[in-house]
Amino acid sequence: MPVIIRGGTFGPVATNTYVVADQPGGVALIVDPAAGSETWITTTLTRLDATPLAVYDTHGHWDHVVENHVWADRGVPVWAPFGDLDWVRAPAPFNPELFGNPPPTPGVEPARTLDEGDLIELGALRLSLLSTPGHSPGCMVAYEADEGEALVGDLVFGQGIGRTDFPRSDPGAMVQSLERVFREIPGETRIYPGHGPWGSTLAEAEPFARMFI
Ligand SMILES: [Zn+2]
Repeated sequence: MPVIIRGGTFGPVATNTYVVADQPGGVALIVDPAAGSETWITTTLTRLDATPLAVYDTHGHWDHVVENHVWADRGVPVWAPFGDLDWVRAPAPFNPELFGNPPPTPGVEPARTLDEGDLIELGALRLSLLSTPGHSPGCMVAYEADEGEALVGDLVFGQGIGRTDFPRSDPGAMVQSLERVFREIPGETRIYPGHGPWGSTLAEAEPFARMFI
């Protein structure tokens, strides 16, 4: 039974939002609800006849969590990584000019805090969580081993890696996290990053990432 992953790109810095479902008519995970993603998410859930189980934030940066409150207000619980909780509670861009000086965003209190080794059970799917700090302290990778799919957030892109010049970024930790993911996750795994194209394999992304590490 193949996993269903739909993606869209939204907001001032082209952030990827995903809807992951176990099957049509099943349950869905809303991943990183970016600025302006609400209508697309709603339409995608309707087309899949899927019930949202939770919002999953890959990390706490503003562009990935800015519409958490839209879903929390509808009773969808928000699950967020332990290392970035304060940014989920009080979302704000570090560099507001880059985002068009957006108005303050309501934060949410996460219903579940996620950490290394946790499991997201989505119907028949099992996503294992790896803590991959560097871009931010809380960055996580969610890996479905049986299906060979990984939500990688801003750790690794199709042709690059996440920035490490933000407040609380850690370039050394970033290198360790990348090395760990390349070591522990099979190269044929398809990746779904927070920015840029998705669906390439980890092995295809690795040489591009290695230009930066
Ligand atoms: Zn980020």
